Amino acid sequence: MLDDIFREKRGFKLVCGAGNEDLDEIEKLVYIYSLAGCNFFDVCAKKEVVLAAKSGLKRAGIEKDRYLCVSVGISGDPHITKAKIDPNKCIKCASCLNICPHGAIDSEINVIKQRCLGCCQCEKICPKGAITMESQIREYKDFLPELINLGIDAIEFHAISTDENDVDEKWAQLNEMFDGMLIISLDRSELGDKRLVERVKRLIRDRKPYTTVIQADGIAMSGNNDEYGTTLQAVATAQMFQNAKLPCYIMISGGTNTKTMELAALCSIDANCLAVGSYARKIIKEYLEKDNLFDDKNATDNAVKIAKSLVNGAIEKMSGKKLIGTMV
Ligand code: SF4
Ligand code: SF4
Repeated sequence: MLDDIFREKRGFKLVCGAGNEDLDEIEKLVYIYSLAGCNFFDVCAKKEVVLAAKSGLKRAGIEKDRYLCVSVGISGDPHITKAKIDPNKCIKCASCLNICPHGAIDSEINVIKQRCLGCCQCEKICPKGAITMESQIREYKDFLPELINLGIDAIEFHAISTDENDVDEKWAQLNEMFDGMLIISLDRSELGDKRLVERVKRLIRDRKPYTTVIQADGIAMSGNNDEYGTTLQAVATAQMFQNAKLPCYIMISGGTNTKTMELAALCSIDANCLAVGSYARKIIKEYLEKDNLFDDKNATDNAVKIAKSLVNGAIEKMSGKKLIGTMV
């Protein structure tokens, strides 16, 4: 059961990206990381993406103890946006193309929507202000029932907003539709510590203990490099929620990498799960680009070896147990 991986402090969530609709990449990511011992996969809330993730699990041949989650946002949530380029302002300098970490801008300076994760790096670098971020928010009732029927194990709610009414309303909809594990993703970008803790207390009031996970987010999509700096915010957010002693599991996410659990241990954080996105994708990027990855045993073995060192390293630090061989 999904609950076991949190209770036993061996949760490792691969963040494929709330806006990532690159089906080929998602199938390969899930395939490699499932073989590497990752037990939790967070994907975009679209039917074809969930099916691609399930196909990755099937190819790996390890579906037991592997769980799927979809991410949903609310208005203002930076995770559920995609870049849009205004051709009238663009001078084709290619700065956006060169900085995009996901190959989501083509040589004609068009956004490849399926690949865009909404990281905003192109928007920040554009010298002409030609790039804006467009919200991709949809009504939950229009897509969640179908995904729940397909078989998902958790829903992640990006509660990154100052609008308490909107948060409460969307949360009530999720509780109505889904009786499994819910994850509340929160960071400190909009609210201070006190309001964040109060918000969670209010949201979990009618839920059974430990049916909710608090995703303590740092700086989303910032973990490309293996540095302490990018992970610091996530650990600080986790510490704040740990001190609040809420009946929830704690997951650390946002700017995470191999340094995260080390820093968390130094700060005496008792986390139940680590979520890694940008860094996890980056370290196996060359294998994700291989057309014949599923038929290439050597490439698969190499990619799994790299991924396994990230997954096992994190779980060992979190659980305090040495892992031997592949976790199945
Ligand atoms: S950075 Fe801005 S101006 Fe330069 S190519 Fe991209 S959209 Fe155009
Ligand atoms: S830099 Fe980020 S926001 Fe811009 S196109 Fe690439 S993935 Fe999308």
